[in-house]
Amino acid sequence: MHVKKTYLDYAASTPVDGRVLEAMLPYFSGHFGNPSSIHMYGQAADYALEQAREVVAESLNSKPSEIIFTGCGTESDNLALRGGALARRKQTGANRLLISPVEHHAVLHTAEQLRDEFGFELELLPVDEFGQVDPAAVAERLSNKVAVVSAVFANNEIGTINPIAEIGAICRKFDVPFHTDAVQAAAWLDIDVVRESVDLLALGAHKFYGPKGVGALYVREGVKPTPSQTGGKQEYGLRAGTQNVPLIVGMAEALKLARKEREKRISDVLPLRDILIDSVLSEIPRSKLTGHPVNRLPNHASFVFEGVDGNALLMQLDMAGFACSSGSACRVGTPKPSEILTSIGIASSWALGSLRVTLGKDTTPGDINSFLDFLPGLIARVRHTN
Ligand SMILES: *Cc1c(COP(=O)(O)O)cnc(C)c1O
Repeated sequence: MHVKKTYLDYAASTPVDGRVLEAMLPYFSGHFGNPSSIHMYGQAADYALEQAREVVAESLNSKPSEIIFTGCGTESDNLALRGGALARRKQTGANRLLISPVEHHAVLHTAEQLRDEFGFELELLPVDEFGQVDPAAVAERLSNKVAVVSAVFANNEIGTINPIAEIGAICRKFDVPFHTDAVQAAAWLDIDVVRESVDLLALGAHKFYGPKGVGALYVREGVKPTPSQTGGKQEYGLRAGTQNVPLIVGMAEALKLARKEREKRISDVLPLRDILIDSVLSEIPRSKLTGHPVNRLPNHASFVFEGVDGNALLMQLDMAGFACSSGSACRVGTPKPSEILTSIGIASSWALGSLRVTLGKDTTPGDINSFLDFLPGLIARVRHTN
């Protein structure tokens, strides 16, 4: 039996845009030089690298010298948090981390390591029922004892967008470094590091139609994180290792396109996303939207269904050709509700039935219609066999 495949998991990864692939190709074997080399081969690679840095900087409203290329979004979060915290403690003695509980594991597990292995105190910020951090709660907890504050720009699991500019302004007032994970946000939102008052901001290319294995970290001038990786002087001494020129060129091209096409992409995807949310909530009994109803990523819909086994649901969807996600890390055998859903107060009888549907720039009305034709019946069947 041939099943039509419909990918609805763009928050997990996106395909490389054809134009991005085109831009990358010359740098694999033609212009293969090491950007640190003196000769013409090196110069050609270095030129491409610095052009890419300018493009990334421009799309974030930063200076090129504030952009560090890394190996992925996770690495950027690690450098920001571990590097930022260690450097700040060395400088001022500050020993506390203030982290939102809805961070990606790249931030949360780094913070836990800093607590368990490096002697930092870790405090999780309160969030509301939509997973939003209250800037006033950050203000109440800030002092010169805080080494780094971190709040995700837009959450991957529930799509909620945080009030980053307000949190940033408060951290700036207390002169405490503020990191935001913008790995999801960069695909859809206009990001301006000056307006947002951030000190550190992480990107990962494969979430916005760039290649896997490349990311960037914005590091505000004057902030000097302790490098996670030591060696040569690449990336202003903050990230040693020969730069992956083709992937970096691809990331810059992908980010440029995301910025140029933002309005069109949003106006294509948002009405479909809204139809999806409205239909699911009206047609499926005991269903709930998770995350913020308005301040959420335009391509992002996430739900919980009471009394549904989320893993079974995903497997059945996959067999019918629909690639979706739960957004959580349920392990077979010992189902545990997602920490993020728990942190926003969702009971485990609901949280175990989570479903994340994320649209892409090329998702069609037909894709959403066929998904909506299939889902309500499937939920009823999965509930019945529970
Ligand atoms: C995907 C993701 C990451 C990790 O990025 P990689 O490039 O896959 O390492 C970090 N944070 C968020 C919010 C993400 O969605």
